[in-house]
Amino acid sequence: MRLSRYFLPVLKETPAEAQIVSHRLMLRAGMIKQASAGIYSWLPLGYRVLRNIEQIVHEEQVRAGHIPMLMPTLQSADLWKESGRYDAYGPEMLRIRDRQDRDMLYGPTNEEMITDIFRSHVGSYKDLPLTLYHIQWKFRDEIRPRFGVMRGREFLMKDGYNFDLTKEDALHAYNRHLVSYLRTYERMGLQAIPMRADSGPIGGDDTHEFLVLAETGESEVFYDSEITDLKFGDRAIDYDDVAQCQAVLEEFTSRYARTDETHDDAEFAKVPADRQRTARGIEVGQIFYFGTKYSEAMGATVADSEGNKVPVHMGSHGIGVSRLLGAIIEASHDDNGIIWPEGVTPFHCGIVNLKQGDEEADAACEALYNSFMAIGLEPLYDDRNERAGGKFATMDLIGLPWRITVGPRGLKNGVVELTSRRTGESEELPPEQAIAKVAGIYGKATT
Ligand code: ATP
Ligand code: MG
Repeated sequence: MRLSRYFLPVLKETPAEAQIVSHRLMLRAGMIKQASAGIYSWLPLGYRVLRNIEQIVHEEQVRAGHIPMLMPTLQSADLWKESGRYDAYGPEMLRIRDRQDRDMLYGPTNEEMITDIFRSHVGSYKDLPLTLYHIQWKFRDEIRPRFGVMRGREFLMKDGYNFDLTKEDALHAYNRHLVSYLRTYERMGLQAIPMRADSGPIGGDDTHEFLVLAETGESEVFYDSEITDLKFGDRAIDYDDVAQCQAVLEEFTSRYARTDETHDDAEFAKVPADRQRTARGIEVGQIFYFGTKYSEAMGATVADSEGNKVPVHMGSHGIGVSRLLGAIIEASHDDNGIIWPEGVTPFHCGIVNLKQGDEEADAACEALYNSFMAIGLEPLYDDRNERAGGKFATMDLIGLPWRITVGPRGLKNGVVELTSRRTGESEELPPEQAIAKVAGIYGKATT
């Protein structure tokens, strides 16, 4: 993308309404614009990151054997009356009446709808196990929407639902989700720690929340510091392997890690004192096993191998896709702006032309740009007629992890400058080597 043709409405001033750094930076970097309280338009730069995050979530869900689909945002109240949650949900649910006087609602979650789909089409244990998911906008009329996309009223969520014949199978689905979430967050450059949580209105016994440590997090968390040394890495996982998934779950959940809702002083005291940590965290996901709560209420049964109708065991599993943008920025920024992890960055690198209009500099930038595009990487080329200082400030603000600076002086010596946004370190390299280095970082081959 050429910046001169892009839509990147960066703000010079720090917006007064933003209380936390991620919200400030998202506004300043022209990523979002508030449409009304807790509801945002995703401007092009923000939209690119949102799509990248969504893409990682899809890839990891499909890898775990889960099946993508899409349910609507607007739901009929009938199903919620059946489950008993229409009254239970309270004022967070946005209720709407259509012209036929039917009660509708903007879905805050989809347990009822997916259970209805299941009971309409699945009748036999032979069709199990089954896990369906979608990534769709939700609405919760939060009493205090704040912190930008972190606590919106309209927000994008991945929600997945598993249907299993037995509790044992459903617990495997639970473990599988936990493992796939570890991979998902790591690919976004995040450490999200699974913590024992409270099931709240969804109900159920087994639940973990995934928390990203950040001073601005809304949850108070307590954990054994050893947990932050754990890395999922690129280990191979067979998601059908019950023992393997169980082992990963145990590895990542055996140490003390809880939110304030489930915190237990006596248990925490057993952690060696020098490893006890109290901090704040951002909830970026949650997994639940809730058994037959919805299947019994809504008649979602299958015939087992003896022909008896039994209610299926279910769980639901959510990832806060739009909240993740805020969480990533909270975890990765400096005084000058955002520092995107390579996994989610809106553009793979920036190209800064120090002397726009200089024939050689323009040609070198064009050549770099075309080379990157040819290997499947998209740079953001700042081709505006601006001072170098302004161009650098914009690049730092929007946080592309790599910047290539091109100017007549370097070109005389056959080099450009490659700078890491994270470390600030620069090196001078011939253009081909700069391309090869960036390509290598993104796992692309140069030919
Ligand atoms: P919270 O405790 O933060 O209100 P929740 O536990 O009610 O969240 P879940 O029902 O578990 O939320 O939803 C799954 C995920 O969706 C959460 O882990 C979170 O990342 C995200 N999420 C929930 N509410 C919001 C919101 N108002 N704005 C943005 N993301 C949200
Ligand atoms: Mg939750």
